[in-house]
Amino acid sequence: MDEFAIIDTFFKSLKSTRTDVLFGIGDDAACMQLAPGLELLVTTDTLVSGVHFLPTWDAYDIAYKAVMVNVSDIAAMAGNPCWATLALTLPAQDLTWLTRFSAGLGDALGLFDIALVGGDTTRGPLSMTLTMHGTVPLGQAIRRSGASASDLIYVSGPLGAASLAVEWLHERPTHPDLDESNYAVLLNCLKHPYPRVDLVPYLRQYASAAIDISDGLAADLNHLCAESHVGACLDLSRIPLHTQVSQYFQAGLLNPLDFALHGGDDYELCFTIPLALNDSFLRDMTHAGIACHQVGVIESALGLRQKTVSGLCLDLSPRGYQHF
Ligand code: ADP
Ligand code: MG
Repeated sequence: MDEFAIIDTFFKSLKSTRTDVLFGIGDDAACMQLAPGLELLVTTDTLVSGVHFLPTWDAYDIAYKAVMVNVSDIAAMAGNPCWATLALTLPAQDLTWLTRFSAGLGDALGLFDIALVGGDTTRGPLSMTLTMHGTVPLGQAIRRSGASASDLIYVSGPLGAASLAVEWLHERPTHPDLDESNYAVLLNCLKHPYPRVDLVPYLRQYASAAIDISDGLAADLNHLCAESHVGACLDLSRIPLHTQVSQYFQAGLLNPLDFALHGGDDYELCFTIPLALNDSFLRDMTHAGIACHQVGVIESALGLRQKTVSGLCLDLSPRGYQHF
């Protein structure tokens, strides 16, 4: 198969029902119709073999995750994902791999009705860069920079599972309470994160700032605070831990909060709600059946602090996942 047959078979064949793609794969650039009253959001994420996934992973999972992490970025801005482009670098022409990759890509894009509108296919060390385009009503994008002192800090769901899975990939603990089924649940969290698109309408209505948790809560909240020129105090007893992470703790192994605070790859959202809107926000959350966790408060003093179980206020390291 030549480059163009690969594009036709594995990428052009992925269909979407969107009517706003005027022309997609096959031209020098794609052309989309942006409805009046909408703004465009653009985000990109690269997944490199050996860094973000292992070459032994099913290509279905790799493609799936590439979509999910990009959708998470659009959701954190309170946008709706619409169109994607894919730059794929492959070491060889492996049709079995491409078939699985295309299936994972199609399934993940299909979950959100995202159209693949273009890309680039090259030979080299395995890596992929997915660019996601989304829309948001005029002026309604939520940024990292909008938080003010006294805003409440929320986390959308349990943390720590993906980074614990990474730890297990390196070294499996031996403990009678932890077995293959625990490992399977954790690996599933690492490979199949589900972005919190359900929160998008509520972010638009209530949030002053938001960020997705890709590098660990401490690091990402620290980014939000830096952009907003504020600080934060986290109540460590309120941080939601994935059940597998708590179980790991009960087994007496390491501190689970390390994974929630300083691990990565969770793709939950961290956002701030002004105190005056909090009752309405909570009422809407209850009505929608969404569990969010208030984990701290924005303060005017810069930096991160932690309220310990005994009520002490101590500095908290913003350490998180870093490539360099
Ligand atoms: P050009 O050389 O003009 O950049 P290419 O030959 O690289 O165009 O690509 C031909 C068409 O196929 C373009 O529309 C491009 O966007 C699309 N394309 C190439 N690779 C991919 C891919 N991996 N996924 C989706 N579309 C792709
Ligand atoms: Mg061209």
